Amino acid sequence: MSRKEKNPPPPKKAQFGRVSNNLQMGIVGLANVGKSTFFNALTKSEVPAENYPFCTIDPTTARAQVPDARWEYLCEVYKPQRSIPAFLSVTDIAGLIKGASEGLGLGNNFLSHIQAVDGIFHMIRIFQDEDITHVEGSVDPSRDLDIVSNELRLKDIEILAKKVDGLVRINARTNDKTKKFELDTVNKCIHMLQEEGRDLRFGDWDAHEIDLINTWSLLTTKPVVFLINMNRDAFIQKKGGKHLLAVKNWVDQHCPGEMIIPLSAQLERELIDMPPEESAAFLKEHSLGKTLDKIILAGYSALHLIHFFTAGADEVKCWTVRAGSKAPKAAGVIHTDFEKGFIAAEVMMYNDFKEHGSSEATVKAAGRYLTKGKDYEVQDGDICLFRFNVSRGKK
Ligand code: GDP
Repeated sequence: MSRKEKNPPPPKKAQFGRVSNNLQMGIVGLANVGKSTFFNALTKSEVPAENYPFCTIDPTTARAQVPDARWEYLCEVYKPQRSIPAFLSVTDIAGLIKGASEGLGLGNNFLSHIQAVDGIFHMIRIFQDEDITHVEGSVDPSRDLDIVSNELRLKDIEILAKKVDGLVRINARTNDKTKKFELDTVNKCIHMLQEEGRDLRFGDWDAHEIDLINTWSLLTTKPVVFLINMNRDAFIQKKGGKHLLAVKNWVDQHCPGEMIIPLSAQLERELIDMPPEESAAFLKEHSLGKTLDKIILAGYSALHLIHFFTAGADEVKCWTVRAGSKAPKAAGVIHTDFEKGFIAAEVMMYNDFKEHGSSEATVKAAGRYLTKGKDYEVQDGDICLFRFNVSRGKK
């Protein structure tokens, strides 16, 4: 009987990545592609603390505000003393060079920084500027994409290859099904990376395999958002040209479905230095959206993050959880007692709140004030009040 027949996959939805509400994106790419310029634009958008839009955690990590019109609306309705949006943590990781997996440049140090983040903003240079050295000598995004993705795959192969000998020995000695499963999964991963040249997140894995692979901190399981750094004027005129097309083709072929966002890091820096009215007028004049916002939302969604709200006269606050979190887990983000002593969640869905008078009383009158139990999966935008019993939690 196969392992699958004996142990049906756990019913929960399995996803690659850490189970945590405090996930981070890391900016990865070759040197001189514009990573720090982009990162500085993120951190430089810091504004007064009570508005919290951006704030730097340390010199290499920024907490960027996740834009949300629903949160703004709730703040208008409740006029709270404190209003706290959702954040995305973004880390600037020093430039990778060809051969990093063999220790060149910052080498393994660099790759361990990628291990520590949960998703990757992969920045690619297509801007031309003779004054800014390209580490590979010319602008060629497909080659650069190959270099970085190969390094990440090579690092994964190295991590996995180290497990093989030990597992082969154990399997020769014992009949331990777990170890057999582990060896099979290691080999399946190596085959995919080495023979097929594909990243692990595009594999066909069952929930058991994903749970196991998650324990190995591999790089190619992490979701990627591709950021394409264009020449300022080409970006403004929305002329990506052959290089942007080359990136699109590459991503379609190697990372189907992953997001590509063109930007000009240089322009973002300029916009940050302008007064807000001036930058808004500039964007309007050129029919451009807020690219930093778009990037932050893409990172948040690549990490499967959502947020629910707590709302009242004292505070309107976004609480970030992983999509699929059950009500007690979500309550635990506010306070561990809320999770331990969880009784029920009182929920107003955001659209109901907006459609039915924007108050608890009117939502109740419309019969849309819901009481949910421990199996409820909290939805993005839910306005929640948790009922809990501390003595129950302490038992
Ligand atoms: P990193 O090594 O990837 O972090 O790259 P940096 O952000 O430090 O940028 C390297 C150099 O390229 C700096 O001199 C930047 O001013 C310049 N640079 C970054 N983005 C752009 C861009 O969009 N256009 C041009 N022309 N130069 C840029």
